[in-house]
Amino acid sequence: MKAATAHIDLEALKHNLGRVKQQAPNSKVMAVVKANSYGHGLHYVAQHASAADAFGVARIEEALQLRASGVVKPILLLEGFYSSRDLPVLVTNSIHTVVHCEEQLYDLEKASLENPVVVWLKIDSGMHRLGVRPEHFEHFVERLEACKNVAKPLRYMSHFGCADELDKPITQKQIELFLSLTKGCLGERSLANSAGVLAWPDSQLEWVRPGIILYGVSPLPNKTATDLGFKPVMTLKSHLIAVRTVKSGESVGYGGNWTSDRDTKVGVIAIGYGDGYPRMAPNGTPVLVNGRKVPMAGRVSMDMLTVDLGPDAKDKVGDEAILWGNGLDVEEVAHHIGTIAYELVTKLTSRVDMEYSGKA
Ligand SMILES: *Cc1c(COP(=O)(O)O)cnc(C)c1O
Repeated sequence: MKAATAHIDLEALKHNLGRVKQQAPNSKVMAVVKANSYGHGLHYVAQHASAADAFGVARIEEALQLRASGVVKPILLLEGFYSSRDLPVLVTNSIHTVVHCEEQLYDLEKASLENPVVVWLKIDSGMHRLGVRPEHFEHFVERLEACKNVAKPLRYMSHFGCADELDKPITQKQIELFLSLTKGCLGERSLANSAGVLAWPDSQLEWVRPGIILYGVSPLPNKTATDLGFKPVMTLKSHLIAVRTVKSGESVGYGGNWTSDRDTKVGVIAIGYGDGYPRMAPNGTPVLVNGRKVPMAGRVSMDMLTVDLGPDAKDKVGDEAILWGNGLDVEEVAHHIGTIAYELVTKLTSRVDMEYSGKA
């Protein structure tokens, strides 16, 4: 029996892509598959996301891996290229790039390339991480329009900083600023991430860029993906390797940081931080065993973790434990741990066995 398995439901992925299309019926979909498709496996996801119109990645290596596996759809480097040496690689592999700063603009102007590159000009509409400031927008447009290495028409994008916080005014301001700057521009535009798709329909425009929601994880607080009609793609599973009696007053695990207040049964599950399950998960973090949520009891070890199964537990060695996924929302687990589900699904280690289901 495998110790830790991440089961990836590719039918659920297709369902989620379909739901995105229902939510944004007039937009093309750039499926964001950076960081190994948020930990789900780049090639499998790309192969099964056949309804996507393009793919978004963070690193040129990710784009090249997609091309090597036969993907012919457009691929965009969401942060652009990091070195002028990458430009010929973009041309050869027809990879599109973001331009967000003066250095990238300069490299494009100085390069001698066999063909022009498709460029998305990234505007800083208020997140203040990457992008051209609004007062410099005209200047960048003029130089990019004049640059022979840039395919025309130029495209435009921006990114939200707080789209998951529905009561903050900043997202509406970002939308308005982006629309006013790009008014009258010919090229296609893109603004919405997953939270934009779900909560800010004005931001959908010609292209949406969903990431996390494709994997069946909600970007919105107080709403799980299941609530929103999406299905979890990843189910992280392990099993019980011991069911032990622990007496009232006894402590379990490293540091003895959980002490039982009754005689009970403690289950030992074969997954730990060596598999990417966070060591910071506190006592009480839920784990699903035989259909019931049982609380973490004691510190997560490298290869194991322990749960309080309760005094009357009938669970046996070999029984399955679900850490998140079907039956236990990863959002709920993330909330207990004090992180976001994005981090949980992305951080599994290579020791976890990846198992796929679903037709191509
Ligand atoms: C990661 C990323 C996305 C997708 O964000 P989600 O919140 O996962 O939907 C979209 N656009 C850019 C620029 C990104 O970096």
